[in-house]
Amino acid sequence: MGGFLSNLARRKPSTTVSDAKALFPFRDDEDPRIVYKLSERARRISLKVNTAEREVSVVVPGVRALAKAKTFAKEQKDWIDVQLEALPPPMPFVPGGHVLMRGELYELVSPPGRGRPKVNHERRVINVPAPDAESFPGRVRRLLIREAREELEAASHFYADKLGKRIGKVSVRDTSSRWGSCITRQGEGHISYSWRLISAPPFVLDYVAAHECAHMVEDNHSKAFWDVCASINDDVKKAKTWLRKNGAHLHAVGAEW
Ligand SMILES: [Zn+2]
Repeated sequence: MGGFLSNLARRKPSTTVSDAKALFPFRDDEDPRIVYKLSERARRISLKVNTAEREVSVVVPGVRALAKAKTFAKEQKDWIDVQLEALPPPMPFVPGGHVLMRGELYELVSPPGRGRPKVNHERRVINVPAPDAESFPGRVRRLLIREAREELEAASHFYADKLGKRIGKVSVRDTSSRWGSCITRQGEGHISYSWRLISAPPFVLDYVAAHECAHMVEDNHSKAFWDVCASINDDVKKAKTWLRKNGAHLHAVGAEW
């Protein structure tokens, strides 16, 4: 067989491989805590615990290794269970459940009807009206993000003022690797924070804001930077220790497993 037909036959497998590549990363059908990630550079199948995402990635060295990788993940199920069960228990956004806010446990309540979500700080209750069960988690999350934005904006302006600096944009998102980051553009600090800081005690949120503002003066982590940090915030050491020990609790907020 030559010419046209043999070209067609030759072309088919390569299309299949690139289609298969496009499927990555994807979650295991049976165990949503497992994510398959393709790595062309990897030389063997391996597992990686990602504590922020509370999941395990299976590194697949090329699409042809997928079937083997799936078998491997099944064989390692006990190990995966042990790793993930060692994390703080999940705090899913469900009525009757509890979440961390400002370092305290708040109960989630879903009153009937409509209206804006309300936080009752004396009783430590978060009231989130939701027309149906599906919209409840999203509403809780948006409430926490809104509260986080308010506090983080105020804290950013407070510390920037102390340094005689100006704040540009404050964004609040779900960053898994860092609690905050800051870039200075035209003399203004643009800061991005993790909304999860609203779940930490206030002194921790304040410290992260002070840390990011200090980067407007020293764009590094030198001794000079830490001096600036300590000149505007008294809890640097305490807050750093808290984050190192309890960061995983912040990632448990809203987690479903
Ligand atoms: Zn920093």
